[in-house]
Amino acid sequence: MTPTNRPMAQRCAVHQQRPAFAVCMQCTKSLCQECATQWDGIWYCAACLAVRRAGPVKRSRAGGWIAVIAASIVILFFSTRLMVWAGVLLAGLR
Ligand SMILES: [Zn+2]
Ligand SMILES: [Zn+2]
Repeated sequence: MTPTNRPMAQRCAVHQQRPAFAVCMQCTKSLCQECATQWDGIWYCAACLAVRRAGPVKRSRAGGWIAVIAASIVILFFSTRLMVWAGVLLAGLR
């Protein structure tokens, strides 16, 4: 009797001696604990993660700067209004 290949005994694509810990959702490669990286709740190998990171992150950074500028304008607007309100309040107390 020869042992047949068991589908459960998966090995890491990089480290043949290590058992598979996760599977890359992009290229379906078996990965060990060291090779697998979780990003946005999904497991990726190092190569697919690099591609993934290079993609939409740049765009969101530009959006982040716009949000920061918009937020500072809003804060500036409200602070000037707050100063007017404070002035009215102080004038009323006197
Ligand atoms: Zn991959
Ligand atoms: Zn590995």
